[in-house]
Amino acid sequence: MSFKDLQLIKPILKAVEASSYVEPTLVQQRSIPLILEGKDVIVSAQTGTGKTAAFALPILQKLYDKQDAPKKGKKIRALIVSPTRELAVQIQQNFKTYAEFTNLTSLVIFGGASIEPQIDVLKKGVDILVATPGRLLDLHKQDYVNLDYIETFVLDEADLMLDMGFIDDVKKIERLCPENKQSLLFSATIPNTIEHLTQSILKDPERIDVTPTKSVAKDVSQVLYYVPKRNKIELCLHLMRNTIEGNVLIFRRTKYGVDKLEQTLAKNGYAVNSIHGDKAQSERQTALNKFKNGYVKVLIATDVAARGIDINELDNVLNFDMPNIPETYVHRIGRTGRAGHTGKAYSMCSADEKSYVKAIQNAINVQIPVETEHPYPLDPKAKPIVHKKQGSKYKKGRKSEASKKKKKRWY
Ligand code: AMP
Repeated sequence: MSFKDLQLIKPILKAVEASSYVEPTLVQQRSIPLILEGKDVIVSAQTGTGKTAAFALPILQKLYDKQDAPKKGKKIRALIVSPTRELAVQIQQNFKTYAEFTNLTSLVIFGGASIEPQIDVLKKGVDILVATPGRLLDLHKQDYVNLDYIETFVLDEADLMLDMGFIDDVKKIERLCPENKQSLLFSATIPNTIEHLTQSILKDPERIDVTPTKSVAKDVSQVLYYVPKRNKIELCLHLMRNTIEGNVLIFRRTKYGVDKLEQTLAKNGYAVNSIHGDKAQSERQTALNKFKNGYVKVLIATDVAARGIDINELDNVLNFDMPNIPETYVHRIGRTGRAGHTGKAYSMCSADEKSYVKAIQNAINVQIPVETEHPYPLDPKAKPIVHKKQGSKYKKGRKSEASKKKKKRWY
């Protein structure tokens, strides 16, 4: 199937071509016709499947087709609500790219950033607004956002939205929009709470399931290291010096853990940045941009900060802490191995995290291959390899294939 087969109009096709997309992804093939028809949809798809274009392209097309309506001052006609600032920024960037050959405009608003520039653009008028819930309600309350003209309402990463406690805000926002709007809900997983939400905000929705919710992308190779908790930092450094090649996104469960690891890696000479909820928005965006542009090869993040962010050509994901929810594991490692690239997912499991691994393996129905050839085995019976600090020289005969690879410096 081609994008032309999806009845997309010329300015949109031109943008798709400029983005070098050859054919629509599965979620695009299934969502675009329904959205163009005006149906409400609930789509279960993870980031990396092309889901942003799946709603952005038909929304732009519909807005473009009806463009001659209001002449004086643009009214917000499409609203996309996203749980995190990073994701909101990314969605708006996509809209900007796909709208290049139209005169449709978009704006992203989010908390933690100065409100005035956002107000200035709102005053001029935009067609598409991408927003995080808090800032949206704030600006609506101050009368800078008018939702009376919304034709399409999108709830993205709905499951994360609920996990983050935004349910009441989401319902409130939905009620502020006109009743006859089209509503689209995208979510990586569809738990019962989402089912309830869809009943209250979607009208007779079509359901699209693109990926089984707990499936792991086939282009990601996984490997598991059992390691005592106290040796995780050493193992992390060992992997970075000997095994991991290219850039790496490291996940930690807590903000404190992120900061601590960032300090340790920086002390060891790595150019490293981090993102988590306590950082200022500008800091998070700078860190993300530096990582995306390749200036920094190591980014450490909490799940909430990293969820949904799209990093082209992410080579590796390292689970420094094992996630206690299987879906989180799937989301984390789904950051790599996207759009035809192969990726690697490394996981470090300490004794207290073994039950998490069991739950993950049950959920994904895959036994994650275990690498025992490393200097810090958890099993005391396994003979530890003598590790010389900073030296990367291990006893002859115990060196893994990966550790034989030429050391790759990132700084
Ligand atoms: P998303 O799931 O929206 O986060 O998209 C993941 C990545 O896939 C983004 O970098 C998009 O630019 C890219 N993408 C979206 N649609 C296509 C397509 N049809 N062909 C190739 N790449 C695509």
